[in-house]
Amino acid sequence: MSATFQSLRIAQPLQSVISEIGFESPTAVQTQAIPVMLKGRDIIVQSQTGSGKTLAFAVPILQKLKLTKSSPQALVICPTRELCTQVAKEIRTLGRQLHGLVVTEICGGQPIRQQLETLRRGVHIIVATPGRLLDHLSRDSFDRHGINVVVLDEADRMLDMGFGGDVAEILQATPASRQTALFSATFPHGIKEISKQHQSAPLRITIEDKLQNTLRHQVTFCPAEEKSDVLLLLLQQYNVDRTLVFCNFKKSVNGVVQSLRRLGCSVDRLDGDLQQYQRDQVLAKFKNKSTRVLVATDVAGRGIDVDDIDLVINYELPDKLHAYQHRVGRSARAGKDGLAISIALPKQQKKVRAISEALDAQIEQVTPPPSLHLDIVSQDAKMRTIQISCGRKDKIRPGDILGALTGDAGGLKGSDIGKIDVRDKITYVAVENASATSAAKAINHGRIKKKKFRATIV
Ligand code: ADP
Ligand code: MG
Repeated sequence: MSATFQSLRIAQPLQSVISEIGFESPTAVQTQAIPVMLKGRDIIVQSQTGSGKTLAFAVPILQKLKLTKSSPQALVICPTRELCTQVAKEIRTLGRQLHGLVVTEICGGQPIRQQLETLRRGVHIIVATPGRLLDHLSRDSFDRHGINVVVLDEADRMLDMGFGGDVAEILQATPASRQTALFSATFPHGIKEISKQHQSAPLRITIEDKLQNTLRHQVTFCPAEEKSDVLLLLLQQYNVDRTLVFCNFKKSVNGVVQSLRRLGCSVDRLDGDLQQYQRDQVLAKFKNKSTRVLVATDVAGRGIDVDDIDLVINYELPDKLHAYQHRVGRSARAGKDGLAISIALPKQQKKVRAISEALDAQIEQVTPPPSLHLDIVSQDAKMRTIQISCGRKDKIRPGDILGALTGDAGGLKGSDIGKIDVRDKITYVAVENASATSAAKAINHGRIKKKKFRATIV
């Protein structure tokens, strides 16, 4: 039997967030690393990119935190500022029910005075790049004695980027009694060295590079004028949370979106004509399950950083093999199997064969689903997105939003709320469909951190 988050003895407030986010079961690396992390033992974890390492260290760190203490208890070191931002964000998300939790990023290229001020006010978890962290250690800008755990994330990249010396210095400067955890996709010699110097009796966990998650390829042939019906039937047949439909042209994108929308399908378009803010909004909604179907061109689809796509449909076969691979590679990630279905014209038999040969994968031919229920409106998305006119610039954290929406202030239940995505000036919150109106009202009539902000359902 495979593990569940319950069986890993994860504390309730973390478990409930995990299920709100929609993670159903732990990945292999999480199953193996979490118990060891919780025990406080030194550990080296080697597991491929995308296997869920962040949660594997974030959850144990959060679980062991003493929120009443305001000195740093955990250090997470990442090679780049972008990674720090990502990791800090994930930690904040997972910890959003821990009241008063403070996670801070300490990276180069940012004003040091502000960082000194933040550290002075007290933080629980520091996510940092090596150089700037050393700077703070040498200034003694925070109390290092309470640090129980140091995580080196992407340890291999850190070494690649020449941070080996800095990392060693950081480890020297933290309490010898700390737990040291190395997370890495590969295991170069330098990591062995760090481990030998700075860990005691580490447990080494290696997750075999998974035989790729299986991606099934299918094709269904139909005349051009039947394509949109076939698409709708496929969407009804599979009825999944996230489908990505690719077209070769903007014009086809618009046509597909219009016809699906007419039938009540929850759909958005992503093409080169969108302004950046519209694009952000569309992607935020797709990510948080407020949109079930996203229709895109290849170029516009390039930046889609959504791992959890159940179904990719090629409404039109792409001209180039690499475009096909790019499209279908959006599915079968994050430990899940995936399905790619192409809707091809009868005259494209040869092209399909060529793709299949080049991929060295079978493309199974399926008949279009029987057209019985074309008139039935497909189900709406699970969630709606509330856009709020506040963000990091207003010092807003996910917990503030959660606070404004739940309890006496907002009246919603924690379980009604999904992804909370705080950007610089804007926040997207996913809420259960039925609660969307009251959520927007709660924000518009209430205050967040004593200030008024505007909420709209987008
Ligand atoms: P790594 O650090 O190993 O490269 P990440 O921690 O960045 O991987 O996770 C990769 C993706 O998998 C992220 O989008 C993350 O949200 C998702 N993910 C993590 N754990 C789970 C899980 N248990 N179930 C589903 N998705 C998960
Ligand atoms: Mg990672």
